[in-house]
Amino acid sequence: MRRNFRRAVITGGAGFLGSHLCEYLLEHGTEVVCVDNFATGDARNVASLLDHDGFQLVVGDACDPRHVRALPGPVDLVLHLASLASPAFYLRRPLETLWVGAVGTAHALELARAKGARFVLASTSEIYGDPLVHPQTESYWGNVNSVGPRSVYDESKRYAEALTMAYRRVYRLSTAIVRIFNTYGPRMRPDDGRMIPTFIRQSLSKEPLTVAGDGLQTRSVCYVSDTTRGIMALAHSDVAGPVNIGNPEERTVREIAEKVGQLTGQPVHLRHVERPVDDPRRRCPDISLATSLLGWRPHVGLEEGLRHTIDWFAREMGHEQGQRSR
Ligand code: NAD
Repeated sequence: MRRNFRRAVITGGAGFLGSHLCEYLLEHGTEVVCVDNFATGDARNVASLLDHDGFQLVVGDACDPRHVRALPGPVDLVLHLASLASPAFYLRRPLETLWVGAVGTAHALELARAKGARFVLASTSEIYGDPLVHPQTESYWGNVNSVGPRSVYDESKRYAEALTMAYRRVYRLSTAIVRIFNTYGPRMRPDDGRMIPTFIRQSLSKEPLTVAGDGLQTRSVCYVSDTTRGIMALAHSDVAGPVNIGNPEERTVREIAEKVGQLTGQPVHLRHVERPVDDPRRRCPDISLATSLLGWRPHVGLEEGLRHTIDWFAREMGHEQGQRSR
C-alpha cells in the first residue's frame, strides 16, 4: 500500500537531512510543520520555504512537551530527526544527545499516537558500532561499547529504536525505523566535523586534509537526494523495518580525500591524526531489504554527488568570506 500524507511534522527539520525532507514533502503536496531548536540546524536551511503556504516553522525543543506533543491540527506523518548528529557536537553535548534520543523520541511518538499518524524514526548505522559482520544487515545486533564516549549517540538511538518498537507493540502504532548510513550533500555545516564537509572545507581553504589513522578504514557515503527518497519510500510503505538506507559503494577514507582534492582542483596533502575512540574500521550497508521491500536503491555516484556538494560549499564559503571582508 502507498500512503499519502496531507500534513507532516518533522522534528529536526531545519537540519541538513530535515530541510531536504521538508522540501521533498512540500514538492509532493504535503503540508509541513518543521520543529527545530537550532541546536545544530540553521534557519537559512528553510528560509526559502517560509513563504510557502504549506510550511510552518516552530522554533521549539523536541524534549519540551509544549512544543511537540501539543502541536495543534491534523497530522498524518511524524518524521523524527531531532538529534545531535555529528560526533563533533554529540561528544560536546552528551546529556542533550541522550535526552533528545529518549525524551524527544517519547514526545514525538506520543504526538503520532494522539494524531493516529505514521511515525518514522531516523536511526543510524552507528547502532552497529564497530561491526563484526560485513556488510551490515538489519538482522545484525551490533558491537557497541555502551560506556565509551560515542555511546551517548549510539545508545540513544538504540533506545529510540526500542521505544519505537514498544509503541508499535503496545499501541499498534504504525511505525518505521530507518537506519541511515553516512549521507552528505549541500547544507551540511562546514564545521560539523563529519568527513566530507571537513575535507571539502579544508580543500577549498587550501589546507591539508585531516585523515584519521592510516585512512584505510572504509566508509560508504550516500548522496542526500538518494537518502531522502529512501526515507520517503519507507514512510509511504507499511514496512516497520529497521531498514538500512545507504550507498553500498565502499571506499577508504583516503580514497574519498583524494577524490575531493581532485574535484576541487587542489593538490592533496593529507595530515594524519589519531583515530577517535571506537571509530568503526569498516562500514557498508547491505541494502537488499530496501531494494526488495521498497524498490529503492541509490542513483547518485560519488563523483556526481561530490561535485554538487563542492559547488554548494564553494558558494557558501565565498559568501561567508565576502561578508567577513565587508
Ligand atoms: P543535523 O544536525 O543537520 O540535523 C539535526 C537537527 O535536529 C538540527 O536541525 C538540530 O537543531 C535539531 N535538534 C537537535 N536537538 C533538538 C531538539 N532537542 N529539539 C528540536 N530540534 C533538535 O543532522 P542530520 O545529518 O540532518 O541528521 C538528521 C537525523 O538523521 C538525525 O537524527 C541523525 O541522527 C540521523 N542520521 C543522519 C546521518 C547522516 O549521515 N546525515 C546518518 C545517520 C543518521
